[in-house]
Amino acid sequence: MGWEIVIGLECHVQLKTASKIFSPASTQFGAAPNTQAHMVDMALPGVLPVMNREAAACAIRLGLAVGGQIAHRSIFARKNYFYPDLPKGYQISQYETPVVSGGQVVISIEGQQRPIELTRAHLEEDAGKSIHEGIAAIPAGCSGIDLNRAGTPLLEIVSEPVMRSAKEAAAYARALHSLVTWIGICDGNLQEGSFRVDANVSVRPAGQREFGTRCEIKNLNSFRFLERAIEIEAQRQVELIEDGGQVIQETRLYDPDAEQTRAMRSKEDAHDYRYFPDPDLPPLILEPAWIQEIQSQMPELPGAMRTRLTEQFGLSEYDALMVSATRGTANYFFQALDAGRSLGVDPKAIANWIMGDVASSLNRDGLEIEQCRVSAVQLAGLIARIADGTVSNKIGREIFASLWTGEFDSADAVISAKGMQQIQDTGLIAQLVDEVLAGNPKMVEEFKGGKDKALNALVGQVMKKSQGKANPQQVTDLIRSKL
Ligand code: ADP
Ligand code: MG
Repeated sequence: MGWEIVIGLECHVQLKTASKIFSPASTQFGAAPNTQAHMVDMALPGVLPVMNREAAACAIRLGLAVGGQIAHRSIFARKNYFYPDLPKGYQISQYETPVVSGGQVVISIEGQQRPIELTRAHLEEDAGKSIHEGIAAIPAGCSGIDLNRAGTPLLEIVSEPVMRSAKEAAAYARALHSLVTWIGICDGNLQEGSFRVDANVSVRPAGQREFGTRCEIKNLNSFRFLERAIEIEAQRQVELIEDGGQVIQETRLYDPDAEQTRAMRSKEDAHDYRYFPDPDLPPLILEPAWIQEIQSQMPELPGAMRTRLTEQFGLSEYDALMVSATRGTANYFFQALDAGRSLGVDPKAIANWIMGDVASSLNRDGLEIEQCRVSAVQLAGLIARIADGTVSNKIGREIFASLWTGEFDSADAVISAKGMQQIQDTGLIAQLVDEVLAGNPKMVEEFKGGKDKALNALVGQVMKKSQGKANPQQVTDLIRSKL
């Protein structure tokens, strides 16, 4: 029997505010335990939360970016549960009236664009952390509580159960990650937990209307794990049902080493949390004028930019997707484009370099595009020298590598320091060609016998003799005409 997988994601996006959502403590990652826990985060008696304005601004930006409805008036609610890292005994969240409702995120999958509908996005505070090992002050068999993370602002973005494969879910998570970093509300750091995903997974026989019972896999912090966890969980559910069993609604954890998901706790229903409006916080009122002001400061969004890249600059869909993968990459592209405009630099060539040597060098050195060692202006200067025939593409790549070392200011500086100009003297090239043809009679015969490979080999020989400074097209033409 065919089975269909149904997936809805809840993504916890840590907002990039300097201080916490209801206290003035810093949100900086990595400080010594409990050095950034304000009395509000520690839940000392008698303290009161005060809403962080910037966290609300982040929620507005998200609402605008996904085309959702931004609530003029939303309510903070207490979600009650007991856990050692939650000293208040409740988490402040939003329940009946979230700050954002609806909206969508467009994903690209196998060349197709598809909107993923959102249910809602609500503001809430993060909990602290239990620490079980690695700290000398904690006696064996005991755990420590670090409240530095307690009160960190989160935006929980909930999708409709509209995804039908692990790949689609991963594409959505990536697109959302790209969007929240793009609009500057999240630093996107997956290792530090700034973007965490819970995956709700169920299966149903193909053609059935009703959803099956879902399980929720908690706290996935890599896209690869997300995809794998969903595949494994769906497989488990299918096997369970086919063996005559029943899926129980529960929360599960993914163990990447064992390649399995494991039950963590049975799933609470909403009523178990005894949600009620938090009497310590007034309703969150977002004035239309403020929303408009934020709207006017919004950057061009990735979707609109992709359209512009294809329509205005002639990039392919794929190239446009790559160039707009992050805002940093897009900025780099447009800087190179500006710098190269008067130099006759082709946008397509810039895109190729970004996806080629720029990406591989960054990858090799573990750098982000913001730390790229060849600036966009330098890259434009380099591409211009290839375009005007001063150097070949191959030499261009050597120049790029030289620029990467930081020893030179510009492609021109590398070219003159290393004498890399392409040979302009046709007589000299003709002489090299004659030498190569005379020295390789066998290849010449093969070419005449119809083997095109032989031509490539002959061109290669001439290029080698010229130390890469001949123009390969010119050499090819010359050999053809001579033979
Ligand atoms: P909670 O997990 O807090 O109880 P919700 O009821 O809002 O919250 O659902 C959370 C997520 O589960 C949403 O992303 C929703 O799309 C998804 N979901 C709901 N029902 C199913 C289902 N049967 N299969 C898969 N996902 C589902
Ligand atoms: Mg949930």
